[in-house]
Amino acid sequence: MSFETLGLLPELLRAVREQGYETPTPIQLQAIPLVLEGRDLMARAQTGTGKTAGFTLPLLQKLAPHANSSASPARHAIRALILTPTRELALQVEESVRTYGKHIPLRSTTIFGGVNINPQTKALRAGCEIVVATPGRLLDHQGQGNLNFSQLEVLILDEADRMLDMGFIRDIQKILALLPVSRQTLLFSATFTDEIKQLASKFLKNPALVEITAQNTAAELVKQIVHPVDRERKRALLAHIIQSRNLEQVLVFTRTKHGANRLSEQLDRDGINSMAIHGNKSQPQRIKALEDFKKGSIRVLVATDIAARGLDIDQLPHVVNYELPQVPEDYIHRIGRTGRAGTEGEALSLVCVDEHRLLKDIEKLLRRELPKDVVTGYAPDPSIPAEPIQTGRQSGGGGGRSRGPARSSRPSSGSAPQGERGRHPSRPGFRGK
Ligand code: AMP
Repeated sequence: MSFETLGLLPELLRAVREQGYETPTPIQLQAIPLVLEGRDLMARAQTGTGKTAGFTLPLLQKLAPHANSSASPARHAIRALILTPTRELALQVEESVRTYGKHIPLRSTTIFGGVNINPQTKALRAGCEIVVATPGRLLDHQGQGNLNFSQLEVLILDEADRMLDMGFIRDIQKILALLPVSRQTLLFSATFTDEIKQLASKFLKNPALVEITAQNTAAELVKQIVHPVDRERKRALLAHIIQSRNLEQVLVFTRTKHGANRLSEQLDRDGINSMAIHGNKSQPQRIKALEDFKKGSIRVLVATDIAARGLDIDQLPHVVNYELPQVPEDYIHRIGRTGRAGTEGEALSLVCVDEHRLLKDIEKLLRRELPKDVVTGYAPDPSIPAEPIQTGRQSGGGGGRSRGPARSSRPSSGSAPQGERGRHPSRPGFRGK
């Protein structure tokens, strides 16, 4: 099956060709015809499956001006809204809109917190058909009278599960109340939890269901290896692996912002050029770090889960879990950074005695055991006892996740980091059982 047979416009086929894509991914094959038909969609697909093009291509086709169009193209009313959980994902999605839409005269913009609101206001007032936004800042603009959704045709919720995890449900409900009822709604989520199903049943009309099965996901393309090692020797092992194998472009995950900073400093001291990104870094700092990493002037990017969410780094060869995530699904998101759409990648996990339970949970989710490989000279000392895992949430992490009725306000979209607020109900400092 080719892109041509999906019935896409020549302008879109050209853009796809320019990207070097030869065949549509499974999510694209399934989603594109349904979206073109005008169906609401509930799609289970993770990062790395090509989902962004799966909704962006048909969206652009639907909005593309045609000769006998009655709407005045000069007004540039908002016709599509794409909601994402993080700034990074908003930027990546809008980049895709620009990439795939480069031969189609439509305007797009991003709206997210943590940066000056004025340029966004200017862009909105100037008019653009496609708005990619995080929920909090979008509502700020609504409060300032900068938005008019009366012409909205399509709403896309990207990574809906993550938006709910981050406490955006009330914001989403408020935003949905602003939109015309007769619209097309597409919901993308890595998981279909009860909360997601509830959201879908409320806001989607007779949605078509698309589920991308495990064998199609990045997780299956990625070579995954666990290196057992002592807690105190992880840094030395990481430096050893990077140097002895001469690895370039390594994305390393830590659990905490503090841990990311510390590791990055230590790697620099070992002569390995690195940078840390997390929610405490300003948006320009994060963008600069990502650009330097992409062009190869930074060898290692150390990131927390939230900061890395939505990063689109083509053909990233190596992902290292310096610490395993508290939530097994985050492991899949992490390794989704590599082995993307047809390219092979490698995910290494440095696992100490404290993390055995987390590893078991991940293996349960993957439905298989991961191969273990003890690196010579780094065998763990079996006499070292397990210790509780530090989650870093005790020190100004923004509090625990609140699902209860006591939740009072939406997450700030101001300068406070979006994300990195406590997302998991486990007690700080202790492993969830
Ligand atoms: P996504 O799951 O949307 O984050 O996309 C994952 C990656 O796959 C991105 O880097 C895209 O550029 C790439 N991609 C999307 N569709 C295709 C395709 N049909 N063929 C090859 N690569 C693709």
